[in-house]
Amino acid sequence: MTWQPVDCHAHSTHSDGALSVAEVAELARDRGVRPSVSDHISRDAPTVVDSPRAVEAYLDDLAQYDVLRGGEFCWHDALWRELPRATVRRFTHRVGSLHSIRLANGSWFRVFHRDLPAGLTSGAYMEAHVSSLEALAAEMPVDILAHPTLVSPTLRELDPHELWTEALEERAVRALLAGGVAFELSNRYRPHERLVRRAADAGVRLSLGSDGHSRAQVADVALPLALARSVGVPDGELYDPERHGSRTGAFV
Ligand SMILES: [Zn+2]
Ligand SMILES: [Zn+2]
Repeated sequence: MTWQPVDCHAHSTHSDGALSVAEVAELARDRGVRPSVSDHISRDAPTVVDSPRAVEAYLDDLAQYDVLRGGEFCWHDALWRELPRATVRRFTHRVGSLHSIRLANGSWFRVFHRDLPAGLTSGAYMEAHVSSLEALAAEMPVDILAHPTLVSPTLRELDPHELWTEALEERAVRALLAGGVAFELSNRYRPHERLVRRAADAGVRLSLGSDGHSRAQVADVALPLALARSVGVPDGELYDPERHGSRTGAFV
């Protein structure tokens, strides 16, 4: 069989996506991409998959289709900690996300908010972002860190090479490597090449993710794939749960 890119991160109507699972699968196949469905699984995200029982029902539904069975879990929400091992094994792969980060004073900041707390500098924000990333990589048994460069919209307007110091990049890469967590090349929140190259050079596995919610977005991984190739990663090294296994235990 010829190699196919895997879209490890796409949403369906189980959470905030516009397409049914069948439509995600069909669209990905039309685009020559191996599909997965990785809906939000959290008590603090736009989803109905918000309890251990709902997770079972979600997995029962996905099992009816030829799709990889993923899930996007919020690090800051405790639901991922509550799933029994037998449930976890039913996922082909799991994605962890920093939708909220923990600030130095212990409070939480939702990264989709444009207004930063009073007095929080971009440097302090990024310190909190990377500290949260380190905690996620150390304690969350996921296969992929979704959109590693997702930060408040205010900060997304800045030059990422200044927002991210090389020391912060190095810390993020070391944490992912130590945790065995792949770095997602998100088509939605695109990482800058310097960080991607640093991750690849350090031996962190890269993963393709459309983070698609609509017909135009789902399974569109062309730019992430081009980015992976541009930093010298062979196609067959891009994360594929069926090829590389998963921390869920699905393939042992
Ligand atoms: Zn996300
Ligand atoms: Zn997502």
